[in-house]
Amino acid sequence: MKITLKKNEERRILSGHQWIFSNEIEKTEDFEINGQIAELFTSSGKFLGRGFYNRNSLIAYRHLTDKDEEIGKSFLFRRLSMANALRRKKNNCGEVYRLCNSESDLLPGLIIDKFYDRYSIQIFSAGMELLKNEIKEVLMENFKAEFIIEKNDNDTRTLEGLEKREGILHDSTDSDEKEFMAELDGIKIMIDLVNGQKSGYYLDQQENRVLIRKYIKEGDKVLDLFCNEGGFSLNASLAGATEITAADSSGHSIKIAVRNSELNGFKNIKFLETDAFDLMNEYFQMPDRFDFIILDPPSFTKSRKNVFTALKGYTELNYKAMKLLKPNSFLFTFSCSYHISEKAFEDMLIQSAQKADRKIQIVEFRNSSFDHPVLPQMGETKYLKGYLLRVTV
Ligand code: SAH
Repeated sequence: MKITLKKNEERRILSGHQWIFSNEIEKTEDFEINGQIAELFTSSGKFLGRGFYNRNSLIAYRHLTDKDEEIGKSFLFRRLSMANALRRKKNNCGEVYRLCNSESDLLPGLIIDKFYDRYSIQIFSAGMELLKNEIKEVLMENFKAEFIIEKNDNDTRTLEGLEKREGILHDSTDSDEKEFMAELDGIKIMIDLVNGQKSGYYLDQQENRVLIRKYIKEGDKVLDLFCNEGGFSLNASLAGATEITAADSSGHSIKIAVRNSELNGFKNIKFLETDAFDLMNEYFQMPDRFDFIILDPPSFTKSRKNVFTALKGYTELNYKAMKLLKPNSFLFTFSCSYHISEKAFEDMLIQSAQKADRKIQIVEFRNSSFDHPVLPQMGETKYLKGYLLRVTV
């Protein structure tokens, strides 16, 4: 099919962004089904490339290539090989990483996490959904996949007219046990691709988890709120922290976190299945307790509308955390919402510090791990912000 843009609407695509919104399209020809491959043209008829078209989505077109090339198995193989090559550029990258990070790896709507020869895929665009079988075949033929699962339970799929779906696409492992052990930066973790959240383990935080080893010392008391399967706490324990309290409201996550801790022989992490806000209120009565606090909440807002309410939630958590820290200790605080800008988050931190009557310094400013690259030309690919603060007197 063919898409012709309105005048000047090619500028974003030319800069390397990958989306065309429905109101930027002048006309479409030969439309058959949502997700089909379309050829894109400027208003004056210049060919711009090929991508997915979805009539039902606000993001009507997702760009795949500037070239006049066929989109199929060999295209997917080339793009996935290019993505894999970036991961392999990191020394000792291991066998567990995000192999493909959607738009950031020029494959819009496709996320693939690799755990040795097991792969978890998430699809967010109607076009990728149509290519699911080809994706599976490339993983089997070129990436030695023994097990492939789709974890398509994300709400954003409905924006593309896709149903939620989870299931095993391929399994040639000889074990009935679907959980397995992985080793990440010297720490053993159980991976449960079938029952775990999202891809099974949040790989975007891996480098930040390891970073805390630089700052945690023997004797330290650590609080890890929204701990999920315990990633930060395990690293705190390895670094020698004396007492670690970790909390998450998901019983399933806590169960896995406890097992991860046992797997590594750590005895000093207390995992609590509880609401992080409630726990904070309980601890708040007893200030000056911790040397290092990690705050890694889920996204408080999925849209621009709710930014104000989300910031109130962040302030509540951050000001209380600052109060709970001993003087001159660390707060590692995150936002994984794209709609909360760095500026808004920093303003929130300033207000929180004022409310807590403490002073703060930014020691490290962090992004997601190396296997979650960001496109500067496409702000939507940058969502995770992490501030390691020293909270002084
Ligand atoms: N720090 C984790 C990732 C956190 S993801 C890591 O390193 O892997 C956000 C987590 O917050 C999820 O595990 C979710 O179960 C939990 N969560 C959501 N709302 C919560 C609440 N009100 N109290 C405690 N945990 C909550």
